[in-house]
Amino acid sequence: MQSTIGSPPGVVVILGTGGTIAGTAASAARHVGYQPGVLGADALVAAVPALQGWPVEAETLARLDSCDMDHATWAALAARARQHLARPEVAGVVVTHGTDTLEETAYFLHRTLAAAKPLVLTAAMRPATALSPDGPQNLFDAVTLAREPGVRGVLAVLGGVVHAGCSLRKLHGYRVDAFSSGDAGPVALLEDGRVRLLRAWPDAPLHPAALHAADRLSDPAGWPVVDIVTSHAGARGAVIDALMAAGASGIVVAGTGNGSVHAELRLAARRAIASGVRVWRASRCPMGGVVIGSDGGGADVLPTAGELTPVQARIELLLDLLAAG
Ligand code: ASP
Repeated sequence: MQSTIGSPPGVVVILGTGGTIAGTAASAARHVGYQPGVLGADALVAAVPALQGWPVEAETLARLDSCDMDHATWAALAARARQHLARPEVAGVVVTHGTDTLEETAYFLHRTLAAAKPLVLTAAMRPATALSPDGPQNLFDAVTLAREPGVRGVLAVLGGVVHAGCSLRKLHGYRVDAFSSGDAGPVALLEDGRVRLLRAWPDAPLHPAALHAADRLSDPAGWPVVDIVTSHAGARGAVIDALMAAGASGIVVAGTGNGSVHAELRLAARRAIASGVRVWRASRCPMGGVVIGSDGGGADVLPTAGELTPVQARIELLLDLLAAG
Protein backbone atom coordinates (compact mmCIF):
# COMPACT_ATOMS: atom_id res chain seq x y z
CA MET A 1 0.00 0.00 0.00
CA GLN A 2 1.40 3.41 -0.86
CA SER A 3 -0.04 6.86 -0.37
CA THR A 4 1.41 10.31 -0.81
CA ILE A 5 0.51 13.15 1.50
CA GLY A 6 1.67 16.52 0.28
CA SER A 7 4.40 16.86 -2.35
CA PRO A 8 8.19 17.18 -2.80
CA PRO A 9 10.75 18.55 -2.04
CA GLY A 10 12.05 16.85 1.04
CA VAL A 11 9.87 13.75 0.82
CA VAL A 12 10.22 11.28 3.66
CA VAL A 13 9.28 7.68 2.90
CA ILE A 14 7.99 5.68 5.87
CA LEU A 15 8.45 1.92 5.52
CA GLY A 16 6.33 -0.03 8.01
CA THR A 17 7.49 -3.44 9.17
CA GLY A 18 5.16 -4.03 12.16
CA GLY A 19 6.03 -4.07 15.85
CA THR A 20 4.32 -2.58 18.88
CA ILE A 21 4.23 0.83 17.24
CA ALA A 22 1.68 -0.78 14.89
CA GLY A 23 0.16 -2.91 17.64
CA THR A 24 -3.31 -2.93 19.14
CA ALA A 25 -4.64 -4.20 22.47
CA ALA A 26 -8.11 -5.07 23.70
CA SER A 27 -8.00 -2.24 26.23
CA ALA A 28 -6.15 1.08 26.52
CA ALA A 29 -4.68 -0.05 29.85
CA ARG A 30 -2.75 -2.91 28.28
CA HIS A 31 0.91 -2.14 27.55
CA VAL A 32 2.34 -5.63 27.57
CA GLY A 33 -0.48 -7.91 26.37
CA TYR A 34 -1.32 -6.84 22.79
CA GLN A 35 -0.92 -7.88 19.17
CA PRO A 36 2.04 -6.25 17.36
CA GLY A 37 2.06 -5.36 13.66
CA VAL A 38 -1.69 -4.91 13.14
CA LEU A 39 -1.71 -1.40 11.65
CA GLY A 40 -0.26 -0.39 8.31
CA ALA A 41 2.13 2.53 7.83
CA ASP A 42 -0.72 4.79 6.58
CA ALA A 43 -2.53 4.38 9.89
CA LEU A 44 0.60 5.31 11.83
CA VAL A 45 0.95 8.53 9.82
CA ALA A 46 -2.76 9.30 10.26
CA ALA A 47 -2.29 9.15 14.05
CA VAL A 48 0.15 12.08 13.97
CA PRO A 49 -1.81 15.27 13.22
CA ALA A 50 1.44 17.25 13.02
CA LEU A 51 2.46 15.24 9.94
CA GLN A 52 -0.65 16.12 7.94
CA GLY A 53 0.39 18.24 4.98
CA TRP A 54 4.02 17.13 5.21
CA PRO A 55 5.54 15.43 2.16
CA VAL A 56 5.35 11.94 3.55
CA GLU A 57 4.83 8.64 1.73
CA ALA A 58 3.78 5.57 3.69
CA GLU A 59 4.38 2.00 2.57
CA THR A 60 3.72 -1.20 4.51
CA LEU A 61 6.45 -3.78 3.86
CA ALA A 62 5.64 -6.25 6.64
CA ARG A 63 3.47 -6.66 9.75
CA LEU A 64 5.88 -8.63 11.87
CA ASP A 65 6.32 -9.04 15.56
CA SER A 66 10.01 -8.22 15.30
CA CYS A 67 10.94 -11.20 17.48
CA ASP A 68 10.18 -13.06 14.22
CA MET A 69 12.41 -10.83 12.07
CA ASP A 70 14.06 -12.82 9.30
CA HIS A 71 16.80 -12.42 6.74
CA ALA A 72 14.37 -12.26 3.79
CA THR A 73 12.68 -9.22 5.34
CA TRP A 74 16.09 -7.61 5.93
CA ALA A 75 17.04 -8.08 2.28
CA ALA A 76 13.67 -6.74 1.07
CA LEU A 77 13.86 -3.76 3.45
CA ALA A 78 17.40 -2.88 2.40
CA ALA A 79 16.47 -3.09 -1.29
CA ARG A 80 13.37 -0.91 -0.86
CA ALA A 81 15.22 1.65 1.27
CA ARG A 82 17.98 1.81 -1.32
CA GLN A 83 15.43 2.47 -4.09
CA HIS A 84 13.79 5.30 -2.19
CA LEU A 85 17.04 6.89 -1.02
CA ALA A 86 18.18 7.02 -4.65
CA ARG A 87 15.18 9.22 -5.58
CA PRO A 88 16.38 12.83 -5.79
CA GLU A 89 13.21 14.21 -4.17
CA VAL A 90 13.54 11.93 -1.12
CA ALA A 91 15.24 13.53 1.88
CA GLY A 92 15.31 10.37 3.97
CA VAL A 93 13.65 7.10 4.88
CA VAL A 94 11.98 6.20 8.17
CA VAL A 95 11.52 2.55 9.15
CA THR A 96 8.91 1.67 11.78
CA HIS A 97 9.85 -1.58 13.50
CA GLY A 98 9.36 -3.69 16.60
CA THR A 99 11.68 -2.97 19.50
CA ASP A 100 12.77 -6.57 20.11
CA THR A 101 15.20 -6.81 17.19
CA LEU A 102 15.46 -3.12 16.34
CA GLU A 103 19.16 -3.11 17.20
CA GLU A 104 19.82 -6.02 14.85
CA THR A 105 18.07 -4.45 11.88
CA ALA A 106 19.84 -1.17 12.67
CA TYR A 107 23.25 -2.86 12.71
CA PHE A 108 22.55 -4.83 9.53
CA LEU A 109 21.49 -1.69 7.65
CA HIS A 110 24.37 0.30 9.16
CA ARG A 111 26.89 -2.17 7.67
CA THR A 112 25.22 -2.78 4.31
CA LEU A 113 23.41 0.37 3.21
CA ALA A 114 25.37 3.22 1.64
CA ALA A 115 23.27 5.99 3.13
CA ALA A 116 24.37 9.46 2.08
CA LYS A 117 20.95 10.47 3.36
CA PRO A 118 19.37 9.51 6.69
CA LEU A 119 17.64 6.21 7.33
CA VAL A 120 15.92 6.57 10.69
CA LEU A 121 14.46 3.61 12.54
CA THR A 122 11.81 4.10 15.15
CA ALA A 123 9.55 1.96 17.30
CA ALA A 124 7.39 2.08 20.40
CA MET A 125 7.15 0.28 23.71
CA ARG A 126 3.41 0.82 24.02
CA PRO A 127 0.81 -0.21 21.45
CA ALA A 128 -1.05 2.37 19.37
CA THR A 129 -4.19 1.79 21.47
CA ALA A 130 -2.51 2.70 24.80
CA LEU A 131 -3.83 5.60 26.85
CA SER A 132 -0.55 7.36 26.23
CA PRO A 133 1.22 5.69 23.30
CA ASP A 134 4.87 6.61 22.59
CA GLY A 135 4.69 5.72 18.88
CA PRO A 136 3.19 8.94 17.44
CA GLN A 137 5.84 11.19 19.03
CA ASN A 138 8.61 8.78 18.00
CA LEU A 139 7.32 8.76 14.42
CA PHE A 140 7.12 12.54 14.35
CA ASP A 141 10.69 12.78 15.70
CA ALA A 142 11.92 10.25 13.14
CA VAL A 143 10.39 12.18 10.24
CA THR A 144 11.82 15.43 11.63
CA LEU A 145 15.27 13.83 11.82
CA ALA A 146 14.96 12.35 8.32
CA ARG A 147 14.31 15.87 6.94
CA GLU A 148 17.13 17.53 8.85
CA PRO A 149 19.84 18.89 6.53
CA GLY A 150 23.26 17.31 6.97
CA VAL A 151 22.04 14.11 8.60
CA ARG A 152 23.17 10.83 7.05
CA GLY A 153 23.57 7.20 7.87
CA VAL A 154 21.50 4.72 9.84
CA LEU A 155 20.08 6.13 13.07
CA ALA A 156 17.33 5.28 15.52
CA VAL A 157 15.19 7.70 17.50
CA LEU A 158 13.16 6.74 20.57
CA GLY A 159 12.00 8.91 23.44
CA GLY A 160 13.65 11.96 21.91
CA VAL A 161 17.09 10.32 21.91
CA VAL A 162 18.99 9.68 18.67
CA HIS A 163 21.17 6.56 18.65
CA ALA A 164 23.71 5.54 16.00
CA GLY A 165 22.64 2.36 14.22
CA CYS A 166 25.88 0.74 15.38
CA SER A 167 25.37 1.53 19.08
CA LEU A 168 21.74 0.76 19.79
CA ARG A 169 20.67 -1.81 22.39
CA LYS A 170 17.41 -2.61 24.16
CA LEU A 171 17.92 -2.73 27.92
CA HIS A 172 14.42 -3.10 29.32
CA GLY A 173 11.51 -5.36 28.46
CA TYR A 174 8.57 -2.99 28.89
CA ARG A 175 9.53 0.49 30.13
CA VAL A 176 9.13 3.35 27.65
CA ASP A 177 12.76 4.36 28.24
CA ALA A 178 14.14 1.03 27.07
CA PHE A 179 17.05 1.89 24.78
CA SER A 180 20.67 2.91 25.16
CA SER A 181 23.65 3.70 22.94
CA GLY A 182 25.90 1.80 25.34
CA ASP A 183 29.25 3.36 26.15
CA ALA A 184 29.17 5.47 22.97
CA GLY A 185 26.29 7.59 24.23
CA PRO A 186 23.58 9.17 22.09
CA VAL A 187 24.31 11.17 18.96
CA ALA A 188 21.62 13.83 19.28
CA LEU A 189 18.40 14.79 20.99
CA LEU A 190 15.05 15.81 19.55
CA GLU A 191 13.83 18.80 21.52
CA ASP A 192 10.56 20.47 20.69
CA GLY A 193 10.80 19.37 17.07
CA ARG A 194 14.43 20.47 16.72
CA VAL A 195 17.59 18.39 16.52
CA ARG A 196 20.37 19.10 19.04
CA LEU A 197 23.59 17.43 17.95
CA LEU A 198 25.68 16.02 20.81
CA ARG A 199 28.57 14.66 18.72
CA ALA A 200 29.49 14.28 15.06
CA TRP A 201 27.17 12.13 12.95
CA PRO A 202 28.83 8.71 13.10
CA ASP A 203 30.83 7.34 10.20
CA ALA A 204 29.20 4.42 8.47
CA PRO A 205 31.92 2.22 6.96
CA LEU A 206 30.28 -0.35 4.73
CA HIS A 207 31.13 -3.99 5.26
CA PRO A 208 33.17 -5.44 2.34
CA ALA A 209 30.26 -7.83 1.67
CA ALA A 210 28.14 -4.81 0.70
CA LEU A 211 30.84 -3.61 -1.69
CA HIS A 212 32.09 -6.84 -3.23
CA ALA A 213 29.40 -9.47 -2.63
CA ALA A 214 26.22 -7.50 -3.40
CA ASP A 215 24.73 -10.43 -5.35
CA ARG A 216 25.16 -12.84 -2.45
CA LEU A 217 23.92 -10.22 -0.02
CA SER A 218 20.69 -9.78 -1.95
CA ASP A 219 19.98 -13.53 -1.84
CA PRO A 220 19.24 -14.37 1.82
CA ALA A 221 18.41 -17.99 1.01
CA GLY A 222 22.12 -18.51 0.40
CA TRP A 223 23.41 -16.75 3.53
CA PRO A 224 25.67 -18.78 5.81
CA VAL A 225 24.20 -19.97 9.09
CA VAL A 226 25.60 -18.14 12.14
CA ASP A 227 24.21 -18.91 15.59
CA ILE A 228 24.68 -17.58 19.12
CA VAL A 229 25.46 -19.68 22.19
CA THR A 230 25.46 -18.21 25.71
CA SER A 231 28.16 -19.14 28.20
CA HIS A 232 26.75 -19.75 31.68
CA ALA A 233 27.23 -21.85 34.77
CA GLY A 234 26.89 -25.50 33.80
CA ALA A 235 27.24 -24.77 30.05
CA ARG A 236 27.46 -27.83 27.78
CA GLY A 237 29.71 -28.17 24.74
CA ALA A 238 27.05 -30.39 23.19
CA VAL A 239 25.22 -27.22 22.15
CA ILE A 240 28.11 -26.21 19.90
CA ASP A 241 28.44 -29.78 18.58
CA ALA A 242 24.73 -29.77 17.72
CA LEU A 243 25.01 -26.45 15.88
CA MET A 244 27.95 -27.78 13.87
CA ALA A 245 25.92 -30.86 12.98
CA ALA A 246 23.03 -28.60 11.96
CA GLY A 247 25.21 -26.74 9.46
CA ALA A 248 26.43 -23.65 11.28
CA SER A 249 29.31 -21.94 9.50
CA GLY A 250 29.80 -19.48 12.32
CA ILE A 251 29.10 -19.37 16.05
CA VAL A 252 29.22 -16.40 18.40
CA VAL A 253 29.65 -17.26 22.06
CA ALA A 254 28.04 -14.66 24.31
CA GLY A 255 30.63 -14.93 27.05
CA THR A 256 30.51 -13.82 30.65
CA GLY A 257 32.13 -10.58 31.82
CA ASN A 258 34.97 -9.57 29.50
CA GLY A 259 34.11 -12.38 27.08
CA SER A 260 35.23 -15.29 29.24
CA VAL A 261 33.90 -18.65 28.09
CA HIS A 262 33.08 -21.81 30.08
CA ALA A 263 35.75 -24.51 29.74
CA GLU A 264 33.22 -26.97 28.23
CA LEU A 265 32.33 -24.46 25.52
CA ARG A 266 36.01 -23.67 24.89
CA LEU A 267 36.69 -27.35 24.28
CA ALA A 268 33.75 -27.61 21.91
CA ALA A 269 34.77 -24.37 20.19
CA ARG A 270 38.19 -25.88 19.48
CA ARG A 271 36.46 -28.86 17.85
CA ALA A 272 34.33 -26.48 15.77
CA ILE A 273 37.29 -24.38 14.67
CA ALA A 274 39.21 -27.52 13.72
CA SER A 275 36.35 -28.49 11.42
CA GLY A 276 36.29 -25.08 9.72
CA VAL A 277 33.59 -23.27 11.70
CA ARG A 278 34.38 -19.66 12.62
CA VAL A 279 33.86 -19.05 16.36
CA TRP A 280 33.93 -15.61 17.94
CA ARG A 281 33.25 -14.52 21.45
CA ALA A 282 31.46 -11.41 22.66
CA SER A 283 30.16 -10.45 26.09
CA ARG A 284 26.68 -11.09 27.39
CA CYS A 285 27.02 -7.89 29.48
CA PRO A 286 24.94 -5.15 27.84
CA MET A 287 27.81 -2.64 28.05
CA GLY A 288 31.56 -2.78 27.68
CA GLY A 289 32.02 -5.41 24.98
CA VAL A 290 35.31 -7.33 25.17
CA VAL A 291 38.52 -5.46 25.91
CA ILE A 292 40.90 -7.06 23.46
CA GLY A 293 44.18 -8.37 24.88
CA SER A 294 42.90 -8.40 28.46
CA ASP A 295 41.42 -11.89 28.52
CA GLY A 296 41.00 -13.97 31.61
CA GLY A 297 39.97 -17.55 32.19
CA GLY A 298 41.80 -19.02 29.22
CA ALA A 299 39.24 -17.65 26.82
CA ASP A 300 41.99 -16.31 24.59
CA VAL A 301 41.55 -19.33 22.36
CA LEU A 302 38.70 -17.53 20.60
CA PRO A 303 38.83 -14.38 18.51
CA THR A 304 36.84 -11.55 20.03
CA ALA A 305 34.18 -9.35 18.57
CA GLY A 306 35.57 -6.35 20.45
CA GLU A 307 32.88 -3.87 21.38
CA LEU A 308 30.15 -5.63 19.41
CA THR A 309 27.23 -7.14 21.27
CA PRO A 310 26.51 -10.82 20.56
CA VAL A 311 23.70 -10.00 18.11
CA GLN A 312 25.87 -7.43 16.31
CA ALA A 313 28.77 -9.90 16.22
CA ARG A 314 26.47 -12.50 14.64
CA ILE A 315 25.68 -10.09 11.80
CA GLU A 316 29.32 -9.08 11.39
CA LEU A 317 30.45 -12.71 11.21
CA LEU A 318 27.66 -13.53 8.77
CA LEU A 319 28.81 -10.66 6.53
CA ASP A 320 32.46 -11.76 6.85
CA LEU A 321 31.50 -15.26 5.73
CA LEU A 322 29.45 -13.83 2.84
CA ALA A 323 32.35 -11.66 1.74
CA ALA A 324 34.69 -14.65 1.87
CA GLY A 325 32.30 -16.48 -0.50
N1 ASP B 1 7.42 -7.85 20.26
C1 ASP B 1 7.36 -6.49 19.77
C2 ASP B 1 8.19 -6.40 18.51
O1 ASP B 1 9.39 -6.38 18.61
C3 ASP B 1 7.84 -5.57 20.80
C4 ASP B 1 7.89 -4.13 20.40
O2 ASP B 1 7.79 -3.71 19.26
O3 ASP B 1 8.08 -3.33 21.34
O4 ASP B 1 7.66 -6.35 17.43
